[in-house]
Order: sequence, then C-alpha cells, then structure tokens
Amino acid sequence: MRARNSFLLVVGLFGVVAAVAAAFWFGTLRAREESLLQGHRQLQLMAPDLQSVLQRFETLPFVLARQPDLANALAHPNDPAAIARLNGTLQTIQQQAKVGALYLMDRNGLTLGASNWDQPLGFVGKNFSYRPYFHAALRGHAGLFYGIGTSTSEAGYFIAQPVYANGSAGGPVAGVIAVKISLAEFERTWSSSDDPIALADRHGVVFLSNREDWKYHSLHPLREATLAELNHTQQYTGKNLTPLQQTPGPFVTLPVGRLGWQLMLFPNQSRVTRVGTLWALATALLLAFAAASLWALHQRRRRMEERLASREALQQAAQELESRIAQRTQQLSETNQHLETKYHTLQQTEHMLRSTQNELVQAGKLAMLGQMAAGITHELNQPLAAIRAFADNARTYLERGQPEQAASNLVHIGAASARMGAIIGQLKGFARKDQNVAAVDLAHSVRASAFLLESEFQRREALLDIDTGAGAMIVAGDAVRIEQVLINLLRNALDAVETSPLRRVHLILSREDGQAVVRISDSGEGIPEQVAAHLFEPFFTTKPSGKGLGLGLAISSSIVQAMNGQLRAYNRPEGGAEFEMRLPLQTEGGTI
Ligand code: ADP
Repeated sequence: MRARNSFLLVVGLFGVVAAVAAAFWFGTLRAREESLLQGHRQLQLMAPDLQSVLQRFETLPFVLARQPDLANALAHPNDPAAIARLNGTLQTIQQQAKVGALYLMDRNGLTLGASNWDQPLGFVGKNFSYRPYFHAALRGHAGLFYGIGTSTSEAGYFIAQPVYANGSAGGPVAGVIAVKISLAEFERTWSSSDDPIALADRHGVVFLSNREDWKYHSLHPLREATLAELNHTQQYTGKNLTPLQQTPGPFVTLPVGRLGWQLMLFPNQSRVTRVGTLWALATALLLAFAAASLWALHQRRRRMEERLASREALQQAAQELESRIAQRTQQLSETNQHLETKYHTLQQTEHMLRSTQNELVQAGKLAMLGQMAAGITHELNQPLAAIRAFADNARTYLERGQPEQAASNLVHIGAASARMGAIIGQLKGFARKDQNVAAVDLAHSVRASAFLLESEFQRREALLDIDTGAGAMIVAGDAVRIEQVLINLLRNALDAVETSPLRRVHLILSREDGQAVVRISDSGEGIPEQVAAHLFEPFFTTKPSGKGLGLGLAISSSIVQAMNGQLRAYNRPEGGAEFEMRLPLQTEGGTI
C-alpha cells in the first residue's frame, strides 16, 4: 500500500513537472508567435515611413541637374563667379529642402561646389570618384548609396543624378549632382521601442539601429570579396565590420528601399520568457488548486464514509439494545405476571389463612367452652345436688320443729352457693370481647386456671404443683386468652401423665430478664421426635377422636405471639415435657 502510494506520488509529481514545463513551452511559443506577429505589424507601420523619406528626395537631384548654374559651373570650373553662384544656389536649395548636403562633381569626381562650401568640413575640392553612386550617375543612371561621409564622418543616404552639358538628357554627361540625406531623425524614432530594431544593407551590415552597439556590425560573418568591395567604396569608412557578439533571437524583417535593405525587428525575448513563466505559474496554481480540491473532496468523502460507518455501527448498537430491552421487558413482564399471579394466590392464601385462623381461634374457644362447660356442669352439679339435699333436709327439720338443724343446713346451702358463684365468675371472662388488652396479673391467671382444673386433676388422681412466687406479675394482654392458654397447657400435661405411674404436673411462674415466664412440666413420656416438628400445627393430634382436636397448641401459640410473647416446648433431661410461655413484663409505667 505504501509502495503503491509513493509510486503514485512520484508519477503525480512527474506529471506536475511535465505539465508545468509544457505550459512554459506552450506559453513561450504563443508569446513568441504573438510578439513576431506584433513586430511584423510594427514593421509594416515603420517601413512606409522610411520608404517615403527615401523617395521624397529622389527627384531633387534630377530637377537640380537642369539648373543652368550647374551646367555653367561645369563649363567654367575656374570661374570664381560661376562657382560662387553655384554654391549660393546649392546652399539655398539645401536649406529650403532641408537635406543634409547638396554638391556638384565634375566628370573626375572632384567637387566643384557644395551647399556646405563655407563650412570647415565642406565638400568643395573633395573627390568622390570611388563612390558607386558617382559612377552610376556618370553612366546616366540615378545613383543610390548609403555610407559614412569620408569628410564629415556622418552617415547618410546619397542620391546622385547626371548633369548634362546642354542642360537636358541625351547629351554628354558633364558632371554629377548628389544629395545627402541624414536618416538620424528616423533612427531616433526607434529609441522608444523595447525591441531591438535594425536596418541592414544587402550584405547584412547593420547601419541604423536603436542599439548603438549593433551599429556597423554584420548579422553574420562577411565574405572576403564583400569586405574588399566595402573597403573600396569606403561605405562604412573607419568602421571595423565584425559580426555581432551575440546572435539575436527570432526576428521579423521587411525589405525597404531600392538597395536591398532589410528593416528588422527582434522582439524582446525577456517578455516571451515572462509570458512563458506566467503560463507555467498559472498551470502550477491551477494544478495546486485542483489537487487541493481533490484532496478536500477525498477527505470529505472519507469523513462521510466514516460518519456513515459510525452511524451504521450506532444504528446496529441501538437495534441490539432495543432488542435486548424488548427481550428484558418481555421477561420482566412475564416475571411480573408470574409474581402478580403468585401475589394474588398469596393474598388469597393469606386471606384464607387469616379467616381460617380466626375460625380456628373461634373453634378453639368453642371447644374450650365445651370442655369448660363440661367441667363447669360437673362442678356445679355437685353443689346444686348438695343444695337440694340440704334444702330438703332443712324443710324436714323445720317440720319436725328442729330449727337449729335447719339453720346449719342453710349455712351449708350458703357455702355451696358461694362455690357456684365462684365457678360462674370464671365464666364471665369468656363472655368478654376479644383482644381486651389490659394489665393482667399472671399469678392470678395461673391460680384461676388451676382452680378450674382442680376437680379434674383430682378425678384423674394427678398432682398439680403451683409456684407463683411472691407478688403480682403484671403483663399486657387479655386475661381470658391467657387463661385459655394456661388451661390448654395444663390439660395437655394432665393428658400426658394419664398413663404414667407418677402423675405430676408442676407449674412455676418466674421473672427473667424483664419477662414473665410460666413453665409447665409433667412426668409424662415427653414429646416424641416425630411429634415435635408438628406440635404447633393446627389439627395435629395424637389423641383419639372425640378427645382432642389438635387445635390447642396452635391457638395458644398465636395468642401468645399476639401479646409479643413466645411459646416453646422441649423434653426435659430427667423425662417428661416442659412448655415455656414468655410474656413481656409490664412495670407501672409500661412495658419493660
Ligand atoms: P390436642 O390436645 O387436642 O391433641 P394440642 O394441640 O393441644 O391438641 O396438642 C397436640 C399434641 O401435642 C397432642 O396430641 C400431644 O400428642 C402433644 N402434646 C401436647 N402436650 C404434651 C405433653 N405435655 N406431653 C406430651 N405430648 C404433648
């Protein structure tokens, strides 16, 4: 991956360099073409100007040749008056026509008169027979020439015409009239141009240019013959015509004049390079911008992809979570339903249990009442029978007139009634309402219960020992219910000792850690192991039907618990069972 990336990078860089180089090349090419085109246009504007300058004065020597002063001077070269006239005429015309110089030569090339006759470097007396224009004119043609003046050292364009002896063409040529025109003015107009401009002759020698160092140097090396010819005509007298130091770049050229001249323009290459550089720069910028855009696009796409991926992951996570929540909710609702059903069942069960318990308590009470009723009936029957017997005997004694005997019987009747009253007094407690919580003296309850069962113990030849200790033992509770519990425990103990050789039940009331404790032990066989587990269950009994309901301990236990107490049973090491009832003691202020 990394190798691939670096390969791509190298290829990309190479591509960028190639594109920039191509842009430079293309820009340069375009700029060069453009500059050449522009240069050509410039030349096309310049060339006619030059052309018109050259042509403007072509007729001047032709017209002058017909001046009688010229022929006259040629006819009389030694006549000072004729020469003076000639000089005057030439000077006047030169000044009027605004040309460089006007001068007349005889057939030998000797200058007879000139417009600059009065100047130190005047042409008068100079021989110009070596100049080609002189020879051309001598042969009857117009002579054209450009060169540096041998006397003035000033360059100029020379136009020569033959002067005929009889003043008109056809006769013998008496002399040559020449005009010299300066092109310096024209050259000056180029100075403002940035591009090198040059005017070169047919040999390739630059003689006019806005580059001073180009002047009088050839564009290419000159042949020996050419150099010899130039030397002979002294065209560029005093100049060493070496080739240009540096070869100029591309150029445009236009032919000008009648001497095979070339007007040349060399477009500035630095501008071309500048344009090329601009192209390259623009391309580089464009590429950089494209690369940056691509990079940004790539980054954006990557970010989008990442975002999409993370969104997908999130969605997946959310879906998983949702399904898990749904699952859990389902489970919970199922559990809830289950629990509700269970709770409902429990409620029903509890309700049933409560009602059953109440019913049981009620039934227990009724059973107790039944048992008590039997006991009471038994207890009441005896005094009642005694009262009847004493009453019958008392009436008999009264009929016999034995009132003392009768009175003693009435005392017995009173005692029996008192006993009955006591028994009935016990019954009052059962008539009271449930949960009649009050301060109860446990010692009193013990005695009352024992009293109720006294005759039964006697009948069954069992011994009941009671030890209530000294003083009252106050607990908070219902006296009737406490007695119900005590009677039940004592009766169970009595049942337990039934078959024992030694029938003995022992009740001890004591005070332990702020609690009142009643312990009822018997000399029976104790509680068998299988019975112990079910001792306090309702309807559990080992007794024959009709004798026990199996409710006694269950009811007793609930009664004791309702009074914040405890009821427990265990076997004594020395034999027999012991039942222990604990109830919180109450002081004068309240419960301890
Ligand atoms: P019931 O007396 O009607 O049987 P209880 O609930 O009072 O009902 O007693 C349940 C059973 O507990 C008795 O049937 C008996 O087997 C056992 N039991 C109660 N007290 C004693 C005791 N002192 N010694 C041995 N067993 C006892």
